[in-house]
Amino acid sequence: MPQPPRPDGAPDNPVPVHSVQEEYFYLMVRRCACGGPWAPTGQTVERSGDRIVHHVPVRCAACGQERVVRFALEAPARRDPAPVREINPTAEPSRALDAAEWMDLARFYLERIERLKEPTERTQSLLDARGCLGEALKFYGPGDGGPPPEALWSEQSRAKVADRPDTYRRATLEAMLAKVPPEERLRQADAPEERELRKALQETARRRVGRRWWEFWKRGKN
Ligand SMILES: [Zn+2]
Repeated sequence: MPQPPRPDGAPDNPVPVHSVQEEYFYLMVRRCACGGPWAPTGQTVERSGDRIVHHVPVRCAACGQERVVRFALEAPARRDPAPVREINPTAEPSRALDAAEWMDLARFYLERIERLKEPTERTQSLLDARGCLGEALKFYGPGDGGPPPEALWSEQSRAKVADRPDTYRRATLEAMLAKVPPEERLRQADAPEERELRKALQETARRRVGRRWWEFWKRGKN
């Protein structure tokens, strides 16, 4: 099966995305050649018909290199207003990041919860983790126990999965999703007027999965 292109946001090859949130995650994952993270310095919008192209100038926080990354936001995915932090409302797998990259993002958001003090930030981190796990799962066909070959676009991703296959098994993803509170409840808790619900949600989450539930991820490293 042919592998999807690895768009780099060059002028003739904008990165196809389903949301601004997906653009944000792309910039988090695809770093500068020096390893530094990209920081957006602005944005311009180009519209042609149903298509929207975002031109995002970025600067490397480590070496200062600058470039412009272009994203093509496809019309069918746009909803007004889109739910906050929604990545991709369609069943189509991402064409910006591969399965292993979504899993790595999910792990980042789960592990950082330990360091966050604000309940709102924790809720948002859970919402992002849930969204990223969901995006990873979209790459798995009904009979796939692990990510199929076409879900891994780089040597780096293939090496990660070969190195720790258990971490990327479908059963692992589904077990993680089952431990994160449902999306609707997280969204409600993310709204500023829902403080009481937020408190209740935290209690529920603790009861469901235990205080150090994120250590689920660390088992695979042993
Ligand atoms: Zn750099």
